[in-house]
Amino acid sequence: MDVLVIGAGVGGLAVARRLLAAGHRVRAYDQAPARRTGGKALLVWSNGNAVLNDLGVSLDGVGARIDRIDALTSGGRLRTSMDIAHAADRFGFVTKAIPRRHLMERLADGLPDDVVHYGMTCRSVTQEGSRVTATFAGGSTATGDVLIGADGHHSVVRRALWGESTVRPATFGTWQGLSPIDIDITDTTRHLMISGREGACGLMPAGDGLLQWWFDMPWSPADPRPAAPLAELRRRFGHWASPVPEVLAAASEDDLEFFGHHWNKVRRVWGEGRITLVGDAAHTMPPTLGQGANQTLEDAWVLGRELSRDGDDPAVWLRAYEKARYPHISLVSRLAKRNPANWRVPPLIARLFPETSQTAMLARFSNRLTAPAG
Ligand SMILES: Cc1cc2nc3c(=O)[nH]c(=O)nc-3n(C[C@H](O)[C@H](O)[C@H](O)COP(=O)(O)OP(=O)(O)OC[C@H]3O[C@@H](n4cnc5c(N)ncnc54)[C@H](O)[C@@H]3O)c2cc1C
Repeated sequence: MDVLVIGAGVGGLAVARRLLAAGHRVRAYDQAPARRTGGKALLVWSNGNAVLNDLGVSLDGVGARIDRIDALTSGGRLRTSMDIAHAADRFGFVTKAIPRRHLMERLADGLPDDVVHYGMTCRSVTQEGSRVTATFAGGSTATGDVLIGADGHHSVVRRALWGESTVRPATFGTWQGLSPIDIDITDTTRHLMISGREGACGLMPAGDGLLQWWFDMPWSPADPRPAAPLAELRRRFGHWASPVPEVLAAASEDDLEFFGHHWNKVRRVWGEGRITLVGDAAHTMPPTLGQGANQTLEDAWVLGRELSRDGDDPAVWLRAYEKARYPHISLVSRLAKRNPANWRVPPLIARLFPETSQTAMLARFSNRLTAPAG
């Protein structure tokens, strides 16, 4: 089959790898002039790492392994601690924090040169009979048997299918940085989630002496951008317990990047005919659970499974893919929409159950987020 993929981010590259391995012809088109080399670090959980392994993508030698997540109050009290290494043993794949550029490099590594076409901004998609067509800025077109919209949060393909304005701002935004900050956890396998009245702070080692740090706080698109964001973060979070003041003292304005959180209600059927969506195009969600890219990788894997089945009408397999993904994605998406400052095991559960039980609960919960193999 001749497959067109719009977008060559995490989802587009993963789909390209998966479908090429299944014997399809794949052409991916991205508006960017070249592969993305920026971005901060992502948490690749066991589920995402399992898919990467199946795609032949190894994370060896990049990023940092995460073995434990500690949730703390803003005053520094340990609320709960989860043994991610134990959960990872159960699934067979470790959880790692990876700078996005490394993930993109590894996903692109080994793809034939004629697969990804950069500098191609898709303006519209249409289908007629058994053919799908993408039209690009400048007027050029590409035609194939199936089209996958992997064009992210502002997806043109989703707009062609669903109409305008389906993605809404959520109530928080993230200021984040990835920088060589030398504090205790930078060289460990420990990830801190700290929450309090002012918002939430996450800290995780990302390899090579880098620390990924972020601050979540209430946000609306109408808010003016602070003139000095770092000063604003220091004012808001600077009185929290160590290591937050140390991180804020070492951070620089140049490290800072802002993302307003967005969310769309996941549809049961998100494609039509020979067109479907993967990743943020289908399910934009706040980064609260660190699952957006992991679920995108799962999309690619399930899509590849369905498009490997025999049959004349690929539309049937595209709907089977959406049906298989819906229960997992809608659960993750609803949970990710919750207030990030409430990221914690409920205090009663934390008191009643020891850490091992909480870890077992996390493993069971992770099972529910993950598409079954087979
Ligand atoms: C602050 C923040 C932190 C996050 N942390 C995590 C984390 O720890 N773990 C995790 O799993 N997820 C995380 N995520 C989510 C993750 O980044 C996304 O879910 C993931 O990148 C989605 O992949 P995608 O391929 O769907 O979209 P993208 O990675 O956004 O790729 C879309 C691609 O489409 C291209 N494109 C767009 N429009 C067009 C067009 N018209 N024509 C051609 N090309 C087009 C773009 O150039 C881009 O290359 C985070 C997100 C944010 C904002």
